[in-house]
Amino acid sequence: MTAEHDILDEYLSNHGFKKTKQRHDILDVFLNSGRHISAYELHALLQRKHRGIGFSTVYRTLGILTKCGIANEVNFGDGQARFEKAFKREAHGHIICTKCGKTEEFDISSLAEFKKQAADKAGYVVSGCRFEIYGLCQKCRS
Ligand SMILES: [Zn+2]
Ligand SMILES: [Zn+2]
Repeated sequence: MTAEHDILDEYLSNHGFKKTKQRHDILDVFLNSGRHISAYELHALLQRKHRGIGFSTVYRTLGILTKCGIANEVNFGDGQARFEKAFKREAHGHIICTKCGKTEEFDISSLAEFKKQAADKAGYVVSGCRFEIYGLCQKCRS
């Protein structure tokens, strides 16, 4: 059991959901998957080991993982929601190739002051931040 499994269990019991093995299987496969996985990709991975899990269960569980801070939903402009691990991870920016969909991550801690100034000026308290850059990767340019 990882900390993420404890968090999930706590969330499920606090919200009156059943603590099912399926949800933990989904979490396991999610934690071992690569970066930025879509619900379809996660479902396909799950089918290898856990044939019985339906797509809607995967989709709903990703929603739960997002609500309890284990996952973060990211969107790279192609209409496909993707999920990445969020627990104990610093916020980061993404750079996305508009041709092949390749993504890189980069550190945005240097933007902290900029973020604070912009929010202060508008009278907001920051609750989240997204930073995405679109372009063509080296391979797609050649
Ligand atoms: Zn590319
Ligand atoms: Zn990311």
